[in-house]
Amino acid sequence: MNAKIELDNPYLLLTPGPLSTSKGVRQAMQRDWCTWDQEYNQLVQDIRQRLVALATTQVDDYSAVLMQGSGSFSVEAVLGTCVPEAGKILIINNGAYGARMVQMAKRLKLNVVELAYPETQVPELDEIAQVLSDTQITHVACVHCETTTGMLNPIEEIGALVKAHNKVWIVDGMSSFGGVPLDVAECKIDFLISSANKCIQGVPGFGFVIAKRQELEQCQGQARSVSLDLYDQWFTMEQQQGKWRFTSPTHVVHAFHHALLELEQEGGVTARHQRYLTSQKTLAQGMQALGFNCVIAQNQYQSPIITTFLYPEDDFSFQAFYQHLKSTGFVIYPGKISDLACFRIGNIGEVYLEDIERLLQAVARYRANV
Ligand SMILES: *Cc1c(COP(=O)(O)O)cnc(C)c1O
Repeated sequence: MNAKIELDNPYLLLTPGPLSTSKGVRQAMQRDWCTWDQEYNQLVQDIRQRLVALATTQVDDYSAVLMQGSGSFSVEAVLGTCVPEAGKILIINNGAYGARMVQMAKRLKLNVVELAYPETQVPELDEIAQVLSDTQITHVACVHCETTTGMLNPIEEIGALVKAHNKVWIVDGMSSFGGVPLDVAECKIDFLISSANKCIQGVPGFGFVIAKRQELEQCQGQARSVSLDLYDQWFTMEQQQGKWRFTSPTHVVHAFHHALLELEQEGGVTARHQRYLTSQKTLAQGMQALGFNCVIAQNQYQSPIITTFLYPEDDFSFQAFYQHLKSTGFVIYPGKISDLACFRIGNIGEVYLEDIERLLQAVARYRANV
């Protein structure tokens, strides 16, 4: 496998999804597919089974639901379907994606409590335990890899607290699932959400939820939306063996199936995680040597997915830097932290160590010339 820039792709995406995909994934979209026969439905069933197997060794306890739309649609489907009218959800928020869940919960008129932290802070377990003593709280949600900063939240520890208090546990694993080893059963997760265009390295078009069957089965009739009814979507896929309720993104589904095969060929989540780790460490060290400090301490809380760097000087022009890198074949990502001048570089997708090394050379050339 080699991620040399191809003629039809003028740049490599160093963004956390959409991301640079392999040629094989893109080729899987080069024809049209029917959805009404067994061939397609079996492909969907195979995807669902593979996703559950990626998520846990306890495959009988979990089921996968695919949902049209970007990842946020699946997050909203979970929030709007799982929390009953009499329920109350605690959302732990230390970034833009935690904040988005709060916004969704409010829009859905859920009874919501928010535990908010600055984007650069790890949520505090003592404080979470304290809030969880509220017996009215029925559900807890948190982001695993907060893509805002690249911080990995301690979901295993939080999950232990959530279950010690008997609450339903929802994790936005959008940008970590498939790239960071995790067992939903061990982390006591009831609903884990991710999407096609993150660490599985497919193209955008649908999200998915790995759900504990026992919890999902209790959600019938609770959804506040028809198209985002996670239960109905699951029930149809389950009863009709791989059928989507409404038009499914067929090309995206085929590309995703191919992406799953490529993940397996690479050596599964462990091997992919190792590739991401190597890239991220090289990136962080190389950028620091060129005068760019990391926002998150480079310890267990730094994810191998995306890294946030501070502007090196007050008069640093991100636009000029961005344009220079784009013209040399790399697209990076602006910052998203409220009160820090920063930018982000992702390293998931069809991106290898040699790409990161080439990027560092391009950054070094830019620094030498301004
Ligand atoms: C990408 C992402 C999402 C979903 O974003 P969409 O733009 O709706 O695909 C949600 N949460 C996290 C942590 C993400 O990284």
